[in-house]
Amino acid sequence: MNPILSYILDFLLGDTKTLELDCHIGYTSDPEMFHRYNLVIIPSTFFDEHVYGTPLSMPELPLKEINGIPLLFGTPEVIWHGNTFVVHADIIASAYFLLTRYEEIGRRDIRDEHGRFSGKESLPYRAGFIHRPVVDEYGQLLQAWLRELGFPIPEPKPGIRKIWLTHDVDAPFYCRSLRNVIRETVKGSGFKRAFQMLKQPLENDPYYTFPWLAEKDKSVIDVLGKEHCEAVYFLKTGGKSVQDKPYYALSSFDGHSLLALLKSSKAVIGLHSSYDAGKNPSRIEFERQALEKAAGQKIRYNRHHYLACREPEDFHLLEKAGIEEDFTMGYPDVAGFRLGTSRPVRWINPVDRRLSSLTLHPLTIMDVSLSEEKYMNLAYDAALAYCRDLIFRIEQVNGELVLLWHNDSVSPLQAREEAVDWHRHLYAALIDVLKEK
Ligand SMILES: [Zn+2]
Repeated sequence: MNPILSYILDFLLGDTKTLELDCHIGYTSDPEMFHRYNLVIIPSTFFDEHVYGTPLSMPELPLKEINGIPLLFGTPEVIWHGNTFVVHADIIASAYFLLTRYEEIGRRDIRDEHGRFSGKESLPYRAGFIHRPVVDEYGQLLQAWLRELGFPIPEPKPGIRKIWLTHDVDAPFYCRSLRNVIRETVKGSGFKRAFQMLKQPLENDPYYTFPWLAEKDKSVIDVLGKEHCEAVYFLKTGGKSVQDKPYYALSSFDGHSLLALLKSSKAVIGLHSSYDAGKNPSRIEFERQALEKAAGQKIRYNRHHYLACREPEDFHLLEKAGIEEDFTMGYPDVAGFRLGTSRPVRWINPVDRRLSSLTLHPLTIMDVSLSEEKYMNLAYDAALAYCRDLIFRIEQVNGELVLLWHNDSVSPLQAREEAVDWHRHLYAALIDVLKEK
């Protein structure tokens, strides 16, 4: 088996891979070979040279199912061939398709105004399973088959393996400069009010919600331990496009205060690579170096602003820039499982079919995905119920939960001025749910 297929098989086997079960599993359609294995998965045509990369490789809707799990390739048929259990469901190609964002290289013409492939266009959304970590469900199914074949595979108790409480810092301060005062004056908020905001201590700035976030996050970390829960703040150091506004300097007095607060709360600092860098990934290296200089520490984590890692192969430059772990992989317009998994997975480039050393942590829920009219447009109760369902599904497969809440979306100003005023309330509610995990 080639290294990528063998990695996918190990990924499906999860913790059980230490039992070295892969030598008992074949991925072949040659009946002469079946007797060598206890279980054989019959490959579909997906990886065939004349199919891979062509329209023939796209799954057809409606999808078939195996044991209630949507199946992208193969059929649900399972048979005995002598002593070998033969599965016609190609869960390896199905997992590969989802884990690598293969669909996006086949549909290059489908991109939104920011150059992103949108969730509502995706197969998991169209086929109605974006809320299910189906790759992890394939893994459970494979392990159940092996258990029935007599392998001593323990059945894990439901539980979340790790919770990442993450915050993208697009706008750390609301009114902390004369430029901000002018903006407020032009907006009609009144010079006097803006000038008063400027004179107040940083802690009173409406976007400086970091002490509140740090306190909420700490309440979960204290219960679960750092091993099971970490807070990460993604900070920006570059970008000149309008989507990268407001520009902020970590070298300013307020920037220093923010960094000091994050360090004292023992949060991890990651790079929020700019909108420009999403378009032009060669800039990531420069932005990472700037953040290392400002924060005085090595930067290993990344998330793209606007979740705009546009093309699947763009991760190559992230890897080249020295980033080891990325947290971008969620769809902005639908919360759920963009890669079909809730577990960290190594990035596989579907173009040159290379297994990299970069780890992707799938993003489960971003605050604004739930609320924005053009995204999911949920009301508070529906958003909470949807989040609880995703959390439940992650527990069932022992996956990771990655939450993304912006500091400005929990701002008291947001509650006063925006149509959606419940992000702060929802975050507090989810924190209470997670403390019980
Ligand atoms: Zn951002």
